[in-house]
Amino acid sequence: MRQRFGLGYDSHTFGAQRPLVLGGVTIPHDSGLAGHSDGDAVAHALCDALLGAAAMGDIGRLFPDTDARWKDANSMQLLAEVKRRIVAASYVIVNVDVTVVTEAPKLAPHAEAMRANLAAVLGLPAGAVSVKAKTNEQMDDVGAGKGLQVFAIASLGGA
Ligand code: MG
Repeated sequence: MRQRFGLGYDSHTFGAQRPLVLGGVTIPHDSGLAGHSDGDAVAHALCDALLGAAAMGDIGRLFPDTDARWKDANSMQLLAEVKRRIVAASYVIVNVDVTVVTEAPKLAPHAEAMRANLAAVLGLPAGAVSVKAKTNEQMDDVGAGKGLQVFAIASLGGA
């Protein structure tokens, strides 16, 4: 089986008057993430990691923010659509790994719920889905709490 890897990245600013949603989990916080969709940067970074591994474009090309269909979209549904396309192209998702960088809130208490959500959407065992979190040690705008960043990697087999 040939193995392929894809890298995904996303960032969103805090400040939106809506819930903070990451990996499909609503996390108590004083502000949500701005964005055309629900701002779920974990789902967005994972979409790009999967699409990158398959060389099938990126989330902006599949779900353009000029398209009203994706306004306030549930990003886990976008991730499900990406997974559908990856599987339709005869790839098998082997594992995914995510790192969220944010000063607040603390995400460790929510990591297991995020893993479970992502595993369900991707059709993977929880052991193939990793979610990690760290701060930016108060450096730069992320360290000042203006927004958060997500890095993701996906491994595919086949094709
Ligand atoms: Mg995004």
